[in-house]
Amino acid sequence: MFDDFAWVGHDLYVSGAVSSHGGNMSVRLAGDRLLITRTGSMIGRLTPADLIETTLESCGDERDAQCSVELVVHRAIYAATGAGAIVHAHAVNTVARSLVSDEIVPVDSESLLRLESVPVVHAEHTIGSAEAGAKLAAALRTRRVAVLKGHGPFAVGETLEDAYQAISCLEASCRVLNILAAIRPA
Ligand SMILES: [Zn+2]
Repeated sequence: MFDDFAWVGHDLYVSGAVSSHGGNMSVRLAGDRLLITRTGSMIGRLTPADLIETTLESCGDERDAQCSVELVVHRAIYAATGAGAIVHAHAVNTVARSLVSDEIVPVDSESLLRLESVPVVHAEHTIGSAEAGAKLAAALRTRRVAVLKGHGPFAVGETLEDAYQAISCLEASCRVLNILAAIRPA
């Protein structure tokens, strides 16, 4: 399990989908529990101590303070979907598109095949926000990935690799859209 976190985290950082201490990931465990990255961890250089186990539902576990500040969002998504894993990143082309579009519609073949259109959700508070969690959870009932405006994508999958694929594919798609906007002004 740790190896999956380690290589996905490494690739998230190396690909530029997160900055040094950004992003977070979790997996659903048996017995209504989850495993999530530690708040403040370097996602590209995770160690076993950077993974915190806690409950799927909030019940005041003292370890929650060690978890990513996005624990509230991960819990909302698990409660609303059958996701086995969640990956969240700050991929810059995706963040930029989220600031100008309410829906990201890929134009490249790979993303059209894998993602179709991607919803952008708005929340007043965009970090560790229950409002954002509810809106993302609703969007992810029927989609692999949704973007919190100005913050970044949250993707679900059966595994971390599944969810990471959606993050990576969307970022490539947004890069194409941003290049097109630069060379073909409206
Ligand atoms: Zn974030």
